[in-house]
Amino acid sequence: MNIHEYQGKQILKSFGVRIQEGIVADTPEQAVEAAKKLKEDYNSDWVVIKAQIHAGGRGKGGGVKLAKNLDEVKQRATDIIGMQLITPQTGPEGKKVSKVLVAQDVYYPGASETKEFYVSVLLNRSSGKNIIMYSTEGGMDIEEVAEHTPHLIFKEEIDPKVGLQGFQTRKIAFNLGLSGNAFKDMTKFIAALYKAYEATDSAMFEINPVLKTSDDKILAVDAKVSLDDNALFRHPDYAAMRDTNEEDPTEVEASASNLNYVKLDGNVGCMVNGAGLAMATMDIIKIAGGEPANFLDVGGTANATTVKAAFNIILKDPNVKAILINIFGGIVRCDRVAQGVIDAYKEIGDIRVPIIVRLQGTNAEEAKKLIDESGLKVFSAILLKEAADLVSEVLA
Ligand code: GDP
Ligand code: MN
Repeated sequence: MNIHEYQGKQILKSFGVRIQEGIVADTPEQAVEAAKKLKEDYNSDWVVIKAQIHAGGRGKGGGVKLAKNLDEVKQRATDIIGMQLITPQTGPEGKKVSKVLVAQDVYYPGASETKEFYVSVLLNRSSGKNIIMYSTEGGMDIEEVAEHTPHLIFKEEIDPKVGLQGFQTRKIAFNLGLSGNAFKDMTKFIAALYKAYEATDSAMFEINPVLKTSDDKILAVDAKVSLDDNALFRHPDYAAMRDTNEEDPTEVEASASNLNYVKLDGNVGCMVNGAGLAMATMDIIKIAGGEPANFLDVGGTANATTVKAAFNIILKDPNVKAILINIFGGIVRCDRVAQGVIDAYKEIGDIRVPIIVRLQGTNAEEAKKLIDESGLKVFSAILLKEAADLVSEVLA
């Protein structure tokens, strides 16, 4: 699960990572109040107004603007809140901004006095260890640094059983070319960042840029945090940070109904129990001359409610010309699923595409009988081959 910059920074701060302080605002008026408060608390005359969306590259897209007085705060916040922000990471349609972070300006007195670094912590799946990636080339696209100047990206692996060691934080600060107070502050920054990453069960923390200020303090200007979904049950406070406005609406609806759904570009919708069978079904659709419109695993306990939710999700896709339901009845009984299909069909009513149901396993014969006698425009099959032939037939 991804969270916003302002939420990521709250988490960082709670673990003692120094951050660029800020206050989130939903309206230009709130932004002005936030700027006044930042002046009181941190004596910052200038502030930056930062669009809060789940995508990076906001600076390039015009979503990060400096404001030198309260009039400018109001103006910039008015411009940014409500805008459709397009960045290299949002896709061409962009993302609508509904919140801004009003943050203290930390680049005083000017760019020549400050230095931007890149630091991220993530899991290296091939070695089974955590890894800190860091670079002197902060502030810009790290993919570009990796492509053109890969020797400027350093990696430090951390054995989770041993934890991050003092020599490693010193090595990182040294490789970043720091000395004196900035060196010391960087070692503290890295240690606190690593602690935050571990304690939150995160999949990734990416801080770009990490800034060395003109007075040699190290702080996080940005925060891209990705929490591990499988560990969210241990962190209800972080789970509550989820912003479903930032996610694909159909996938949000699917996850609310406990369905594993991924939208694809084809013309045959499919509803299957089990991920392996779902993939095999997608192959069958291709062999039959169609293209799968989605991946959808209804899980091991398909019933009328899940079947109906799955129908609704598949039917939202205007490209769908047919639906193939492929259920193997192991624990779940096929006649129950068949009844679920019939109930859902009747309840939704206006289903404009042919439906092919292949039920195999426990009570498959009863299930076929139920469907054949229902009087609905549903074709039933028991063998996979029959189902594939029916798909070809309805597409022809
Ligand atoms: P991103 O573009 O989505 O990665 O957003 P960032 O939070 O990384 O900000 C983008 C850029 O805005 C940074 O690289 C800085 O150059 C600039 N920026 C961020 N905070 C400040 C600030 O306090 N003062 C000034 N002058 N520039 C800032
Ligand atoms: Mn950034």
